[in-house]
Formats: sequence, structure tokens, C-alpha cells
Amino acid sequence: MALSLSDYRRYGRQMILDGFGLPGQLKLCNASVVVVGAGGLGCPALQYLGSSGIGRIGIIDHDHVELSNLQRQILHNEATVGMHKAQSAAIALKRINSDLRIDAITEALTPENALSLLEPYDIILDCTDNPPTRYLLSDTAVVLGKPLVSGAAQKFEGQLCVYNLGESGPCYRCLFPKPPAPEHAGTCEEMGILGAVTGIIGNLQALETIKILTGLHDTKPTLTLFSALNVPQFRSIKLRSRKPSCPACGVEGQKIGTISEIDYIQFCGGATPDWESLGLAESNLEYRIRVKDLKNAIDTKGPMHLIDVRPRIEFEICHLAESIHVPLNELVANPSPFLPPDLDTPTYIVCRLGNDSQIAAGALRGLQTHGIVKDVIGGLRAWSKDVDPQFPVY
Ligand SMILES: [Zn+2]
Repeated sequence: MALSLSDYRRYGRQMILDGFGLPGQLKLCNASVVVVGAGGLGCPALQYLGSSGIGRIGIIDHDHVELSNLQRQILHNEATVGMHKAQSAAIALKRINSDLRIDAITEALTPENALSLLEPYDIILDCTDNPPTRYLLSDTAVVLGKPLVSGAAQKFEGQLCVYNLGESGPCYRCLFPKPPAPEHAGTCEEMGILGAVTGIIGNLQALETIKILTGLHDTKPTLTLFSALNVPQFRSIKLRSRKPSCPACGVEGQKIGTISEIDYIQFCGGATPDWESLGLAESNLEYRIRVKDLKNAIDTKGPMHLIDVRPRIEFEICHLAESIHVPLNELVANPSPFLPPDLDTPTYIVCRLGNDSQIAAGALRGLQTHGIVKDVIGGLRAWSKDVDPQFPVY
């Protein structure tokens, strides 16, 4: 594919760079990349890949845009809330360059379709946030013999690595043969994330991809760690080559087998629980109180001891006026001081979704004498939905 006249003007600023030139631009125009995940990492990566003139871009994401995404997923906007993220991102890229060739794929990536969905592209970007998909992408990249530009971000931190690069670059399994324990694999919703941090890592993913495509990458395997609050903020760790014993890319020992037959979710310790549904499950009703009944109890101004067990930072975002704050870990470590002096006063425990409150209530009921102790079903999320729509959901 040759450049159009307007492309010379559009891409002139990068074409005059040493080592880039017209050949570099032509390489980008004839290249194809696929970005898996059009979220916090995928949006900035896609923005720079699209604007740099990559010839064909695949976007794989089955999720829909939500208001809580807009703080970091910069290709989406208020008008595309509810739309498939892949389509919303494609629209945003087309605004930058209406000639871009974009495949918006709204299917979920699975072991059954991964090979066929990713096969058409030169480079794969992992912009996802869950361990099963990370292993699936790595294994697929090894089978297809394609580089995998992998990013991750959480809280104030991020990391970046290009796997399966060149003749001997390691794969994700070489570095992380075992998945993290499920309790350490929190999502952004649970752990929090600063939008600018995903922006930094997503931009680095685009940069590494452009370097590989244009031949500017030294192809040495490196793990880059970023921490917004550290000085210096970046650290680079040189990585070893492929592990001969790696079950995915190595030459010795046992192999992982056929990708479509691997249960990645099981490998990573089972499905992530749906905490909102779990918090709402109305089991053990004698130990739990519905938000509407809590509202009645508050309105009738009977004696009541209401404890909010969320972290302090969340309590300070919003809380019920009647509640006192005791963080879960403090209460569980030593429950007895947190019972009311008069055990005829019922104790109610509330949290964000109604899961931690069950743990706290259980700890109080484990004491020899405890009176009535109940947790609030569905927590403050349910309070906002069923009692007070003005109460913030975060
Ligand atoms: Zn490997």
C-alpha cells in the first residue's frame, strides 16, 4: 500500500525522524494489530496506534461502556454509554482518521475462538485485566508466533512487557508459571485505579508496538515497572530468554496441549465471584436485615447500633448519618469492644455491597454474649437503589 498525498502531510512529523522515514510509515500502513480490551489500557493504546497510521486495527471487547469507565477509558464518552466498547472506540478512532480500517469485534475472546480471531494480525496487545485472559492470550501468541505487548495497571502502579518477541523472547508463562491466588487478582472496581496511570501504560504499549513494527525495537526482553508515587517512577528489569521447561513455549517437558481444550478459568482458581449478587443473596435471613427494614428502624428512632465496616477512605466518601465507622480488619481482630453496652440494643452492620458486613456480623456473633447482630443485605448499594436514590453509588 502506498501513501496518499494527504498522508505525507498527516504523518510528516514522524516520517522525518531518524530511523523512521518513509519506510517506517509504509511498514505501519501495511501492518495490522489487534487490541484485546478497549478499556483503561486499550483506549490510549488504540488512540496512538490509530493516529500513527497502522493499516488495520482489530478491537476485541464484549463489554458495554458505563459511566464509571469514563474516568480513564478516554475513547468513550457520555454519548456512547451503553454502546459496545469495541464500537465506541472504533467511532472515536474514525473521528481521528476516517480512512482507518477497523474491525470492531464484540464477541468475548474464548479458548475456542482465540486462534482464529487473533490470527489475521501481526501483533497482539493485551489490554485486559483478568488472569485467565492473560494466559489465553500468551498461549495463543506462542502458537501463532506473534509478539504480545502486555500491559497491566492497578491503583498507582503499572507494568509493561513484550512477550514472545523474536527468536527467544519469553512468554507470560515463563515469567508467571502459576496464576496469582484469586484473592490477589482484584479488578479496578475492587482495588481502584488512577486514570492517568492506565494512560501511561497504554501509551507505552502503543509505543512498543510502533517500535516493533518499524524495526526500532532492540527486541531484548524487558519488564518495565511504573509507580506513580516512587522516585524514580520507572524501573526496567532485563529478562531471561524463553525457559526450556515452559509448558507453553519451551522445548522440554510437559506441554499445555490444545488451547481450545484448556479451562483457563479453572486454571486461575475459578470464576471471579459476583460480589454484588452475593451480597444481595437472601440466605440466613435471621442474621440479616433488608435495607427497607433498616430504614424503618431508623425512622422509628428505636435504640440501634449501626456499624459501617468499609475502609476509612470509603466511609469519608459517603455514609449513613446514624452509622459509626469501624474498619473490618479492626473489628474482626478484636470484636468485643464494638458491641453496644446494652445488649438489648440491636447491632446492624453495613458495608458497600453486603459481603464484608457478613464477616463482621459473624465475628460479633462468635462472642459469648452478643444480643441481636444482623448485617444489611446488599449494603449501601442496595440502600441507594431501594431506599434513597440520592445516596451516592461509587
Ligand atoms: Zn514460555
